[in-house]
Amino acid sequence: MLKISNLHAGIDGTEILKGIDLEIKAGEVHAIMGPNGSGKSTLSSVVAGREDYEVTQGHIDFEGEDLMDLAPEERAHKGVFLSFQYPIEIPGVTVTNFLKTSINETRKAQGLEPMPANVMLKKMREKMSLLEMDKGFLSRSLNEGFSGGEKKRNEIFQMAMLEPKLAILDETDSGLDIDALRIVANGVNKLKNKNNAVLLITHYQRLLDYIVPDFVHVLYKGKIVKSGDKNLALELEERGYDWIKEEQPA
Ligand code: ADP
Ligand code: MG
Ligand code: MG
Repeated sequence: MLKISNLHAGIDGTEILKGIDLEIKAGEVHAIMGPNGSGKSTLSSVVAGREDYEVTQGHIDFEGEDLMDLAPEERAHKGVFLSFQYPIEIPGVTVTNFLKTSINETRKAQGLEPMPANVMLKKMREKMSLLEMDKGFLSRSLNEGFSGGEKKRNEIFQMAMLEPKLAILDETDSGLDIDALRIVANGVNKLKNKNNAVLLITHYQRLLDYIVPDFVHVLYKGKIVKSGDKNLALELEERGYDWIKEEQPA
């Protein structure tokens, strides 16, 4: 599904990603862990196509198609979802209207008719119940006055509604209390199937107790320096990141 080859990228002439190779197949959950500042958010932003980052070398292919020349919206229409894509508060735009617009724009780009209002509403109700969210949420203004936990839950709700092929969740666990974490993780687990994939970016192992990854990669100074299975995350939890740093050539 996603194939990243020798990806180098940076900002304002400073290289942040220094040759990333990563392949994610349909049905897989990958976790990227690493110390602060290692380039995790840069990687997710570059895959999603944020324009402030400059790709200097390498390729990102999604379902056999080169993503490099596509704008973030076009990547989203192809099924790439990045949490925090819409962190902005939009006073006066309700959660419902925002979702209607996003979904129908995606459908339009795919040559489909708008989703009938009753179908949309039914789907919203279904997904909200899955995420144990209150119905009153739908009529609130997007992100306005949302608590940290509500913002996270809203992101997962957007993801549930948009049904992306590849969901990239960047630090979705930070700021969540244990109940909200469980609900968000349950939501992700219920949305997971053999045709989609998840890339979880997290500093801590905690989320991975709930969403069990097939592969764990450690990003350090812009490179993937270690890959393994869920046991690697447990080892990092126990030993921290220092031993990874010590293993790197000076
Ligand atoms: P992580 O998500 O792993 O904490 P980031 O991708 O946010 O790491 O950052 C990696 C490095 O790139 C850091 O040294 C950070 O200071 C730098 N960086 C990230 N975004 C920007 C930016 N917009 N402008 C300048 N430097 C940036
Ligand atoms: Mg950071
Ligand atoms: Mg980050």
